[in-house]
Amino acid sequence: MPRELLLQVTPEIAANELLLKDHLSKQIKVSPKEIQHVSILKRSIDARQKAIKINLKVVIYLQGESFQETKIELPIYKDVSLAQEVIVVGAGPAGLFAALQLIELGLKPIVIERGKDVRGRRRDLKAINVDHLVNEDSNYCFGEGGAGTYSDGKLYTRSKKRGDVTRILELLVAFGASEDILVEAHPHIGTNKLPKIIEDIRNKIIEFGGQVLFDTRVIDILVKNNEVEGIVTQNGDKILANKLILATGHSARDIFELLDKKKIFIEAKPFALGVRAEHSQQLIDSIQYSCDYRGEHLPPAPYSIVKQVNGRGMYSFCMCPGGVIAPCATSPGEVVTNGWSPSKRDQVTANSGIVIELKLEDFKPFAKFGALAGMEFQKSIEQKAWHLAGETQKVPAQRMVDFTQNKVSADIPKTSYVPGTTSVEMGQVFPGFLSQILREGFKEFGKSMRGYLTNEAILHAPESRTSSPVRIPRDPMTYEHLQIKGLYPCGEGAGYAGGIISAAIDGEKCALMIAETLK
Ligand SMILES: Cc1cc2nc3c(=O)[nH]c(=O)nc-3n(C[C@H](O)[C@H](O)[C@H](O)COP(=O)(O)OP(=O)(O)OC[C@H]3O[C@@H](n4cnc5c(N)ncnc54)[C@H](O)[C@@H]3O)c2cc1C
Repeated sequence: MPRELLLQVTPEIAANELLLKDHLSKQIKVSPKEIQHVSILKRSIDARQKAIKINLKVVIYLQGESFQETKIELPIYKDVSLAQEVIVVGAGPAGLFAALQLIELGLKPIVIERGKDVRGRRRDLKAINVDHLVNEDSNYCFGEGGAGTYSDGKLYTRSKKRGDVTRILELLVAFGASEDILVEAHPHIGTNKLPKIIEDIRNKIIEFGGQVLFDTRVIDILVKNNEVEGIVTQNGDKILANKLILATGHSARDIFELLDKKKIFIEAKPFALGVRAEHSQQLIDSIQYSCDYRGEHLPPAPYSIVKQVNGRGMYSFCMCPGGVIAPCATSPGEVVTNGWSPSKRDQVTANSGIVIELKLEDFKPFAKFGALAGMEFQKSIEQKAWHLAGETQKVPAQRMVDFTQNKVSADIPKTSYVPGTTSVEMGQVFPGFLSQILREGFKEFGKSMRGYLTNEAILHAPESRTSSPVRIPRDPMTYEHLQIKGLYPCGEGAGYAGGIISAAIDGEKCALMIAETLK
């Protein structure tokens, strides 16, 4: 019988099949030749001690034991071109996985996306980075693949629905992602690999009779007697269907405004806000791995910190080892940061959002905006950053220690943020209480990660699109909007996901709920 084993090995052994076989043969007392195959089921790094270890869960197949390479296949899709139509607004992870699931269930998705296809988007990203021009329909957040396309592609989630997580990971593998994502404790795909996967998902949707419309912005939702009838696009075209999955993401402010104007029930939701910090990757490696040089067998180190400061949670968010800070504004006149990494995470810098949890009471100065109070608070900070940095896509920046000491930095070295930086006292970007917590928090971070609090680290502000500032409430049993029949608020924008995997899970779930009501 194949043997399952949990073990700890050096990074060098973990990275080399022959060394691993040799190591295992000694453990189970057989000759290396007797080992036919070793399957790795799980892999994680234990960096708690100076001598770093790799935790492995493996299955060992000896000669003569039956072993078959399993290839992960796509589900069996059938042609849905003549089936009942469901409108899916938004081609982010929630919308795309909803569309695939609808096809699997025999329903025809019509995916409507305001942005360009994944290749066409690249030109608009260049325009933000180089010419400081923001296309309101095609940018780092909008366009095929949604906000996660040009990202680090981190695929871990705090979602407890493990079964669903595995299903999404397996679908990604079937669409071309490396099988390593099924094994790694903290899997990621990388900006260079995601676009091809997304393109293949779109082609599969079309191949089996679904429709995908790009450059098509939904400007109205048709509702009669509290029931969805369809949508209207920016060209005035109507698309009719009485089931609509609304997966427009956390940055679709015009959709939140539309729902509010139409008196379709939405509510303000707390989110987190702060800065994006950039260190050299070498410094983070040396702190996390307690070494001067990481060596060739360890990946660029991530970090994760959480602290309670003045009664608020302050934590690292979407940390990108070997990554780059990206300009993620979705409208002219605002500055927004986030981060991405290529699959090898081989850039010399490491960045992370460092954010503070907000409370509904923080939005009081914007109370007149009702359910949009949090969104207006968020917008005001992004616009202030734009003014302070010179009314381009340059970002307000400050050295970390200078920030903790309220000192404008004399100079800002070149960072990975391509549009450039302007030296600004960060305290001006945020309300006083937030600046105060950030200042205290960085000092605390420096205590738990020695070397982290350094003037070599550069803060960029703001990191403001951590999750949606609005929730679109739905029935927890049916996922249908509490007031409008046939409307399925979905994914991160509706307040039901926080990342690629949880958005994809939510997309699938909405599709399943629709199929259930149609039974
Ligand atoms: C730079 C960056 C890096 C990130 N890194 C990671 C990461 O490593 N791991 C991770 O898990 N998450 C990451 N995220 C977050 C992740 O991208 C989101 O959580 C996820 O994409 C949410 O999925 P969604 O489908 O709900 O919404 P979105 O991905 O936001 O998709 C919404 C889609 O709806 C479209 N849309 C909006 N309004 C309209 C309209 N009116 N008409 C038609 N279409 C519309 C948008 O163009 C967009 O394509 C990152 C985000 C960014 C910006």
